[in-house]
Amino acid sequence: MPPRVIMLCTGTPAPDMAHWGSSFLVGIGEEWLMFDCGHGANYKLHKAGFQSTQVDRMFFTHHHSDHDADYPSFLLTRFDMSIGKESELQVYGPKLTEQLTDRLLGEPNGAYWHDIVARTKHPLSVAAYVERGGIPPRKPPKIHARDIGPGTVATGKNWEITAAPVDHVQPYLDSLAYRIDSDEGSIVFSGDTSPCKSLTDLATGADLLVMECIKVDEDMIPGSPSYETETGTFGAAQTAVDAGVKRLALVHQQGKMEEPVRKSQALFEVKSVYDGPVIWGEELLEVPWE
Ligand SMILES: [Zn+2]
Repeated sequence: MPPRVIMLCTGTPAPDMAHWGSSFLVGIGEEWLMFDCGHGANYKLHKAGFQSTQVDRMFFTHHHSDHDADYPSFLLTRFDMSIGKESELQVYGPKLTEQLTDRLLGEPNGAYWHDIVARTKHPLSVAAYVERGGIPPRKPPKIHARDIGPGTVATGKNWEITAAPVDHVQPYLDSLAYRIDSDEGSIVFSGDTSPCKSLTDLATGADLLVMECIKVDEDMIPGSPSYETETGTFGAAQTAVDAGVKRLALVHQQGKMEEPVRKSQALFEVKSVYDGPVIWGEELLEVPWE
């Protein structure tokens, strides 16, 4: 069975009811991995029928808020729902991943450390923990966050994840794309990037490329900051062609891309370049493999 890919958040920082923030859930066998944790990701994870305690690994492409704003909510829910028997969370991402995690839940100065103390000490919260099946003492969560760079960054029972640098808003934030290779299929998440060789190389021959496609071509103005840092329709399609991927999913759409005229224009532009299956990213959609 191919890996399951569930789109949780497929938008940008701009609030939009169809797309908001960035987050994806991948299931391989019994293991669940999350890629980015943008606005509303924790809510949408649960809306999709999953528990935060099912997720054992979190990967960040970069630390723009639409990719990590719901990280504290996810961590706090995972801690609160834990009965002390789950795996310790492994977190991977470019520079700032360790710092952000420590600033959220680190002892004693993390922004939410008071919540950890109250829930592990007060009888009310210890009783709730016991009611869920936990055995006291209730302990603070152990989160293994690490700043990573390009190369093989994680391995599982039958999968491996490789990161590659992509071009976004350096030098302010580093950005990584990820490739998951498993016995049953390969998936690449571009994160936010302009079309670049390192992404094409990473995506070569993948079964699925989940690619930023923020605007239709007429809104991608050559020489503009957006043109240099993000990908529109033709860039996404050309990357899919150059990498020879078997399927292309378009995500990170600007809100107005849902306007019927723009959406059909976007799909027309992509399909005029790339002739494989194209999936329009929608929140809570599980990517079809056929
Ligand atoms: Zn970004």
